[in-house]
Amino acid sequence: MAWKESRLYSIFKFKCPRCHEGDMFTPGTLFNPAKFSKMYPKCSCCGQSFEPEPGYYFGAMFVSYAINTALFVAVWVALNVILGDYSITTMVVTIVIMAILFLSLIFRLSRSIWINIFIGYEGPCDQIPKKQGFK
Ligand SMILES: [Zn+2]
Repeated sequence: MAWKESRLYSIFKFKCPRCHEGDMFTPGTLFNPAKFSKMYPKCSCCGQSFEPEPGYYFGAMFVSYAINTALFVAVWVALNVILGDYSITTMVVTIVIMAILFLSLIFRLSRSIWINIFIGYEGPCDQIPKKQGFK
């Protein structure tokens, strides 16, 4: 299976889960606090809706929770390796800073992973039927 056909490609490139070509988020806005959460309503290429039903991304919170837990463990390990001896305040401040730095990336990753759980790759955009409307 080619890289472009794998789910990981869609997840990490934030591409449409159905055709892997249309963008899910506006390019160049990842670190813009006002725009990082804005999604296109549907794929500009194949027409796949990015919010098939209201509240679709509720479950993405659990994905986000898992990623944040991994981030916290990574911070804890890094502090132990780098500082060895540190206070609880140092750990809390470091975790808060990392959580803020990675907020937009984790937000997008969790939505991207969530939609990829339910919608699979169907083929290149010009070889699959276009979806009409938002369903
Ligand atoms: Zn698409």
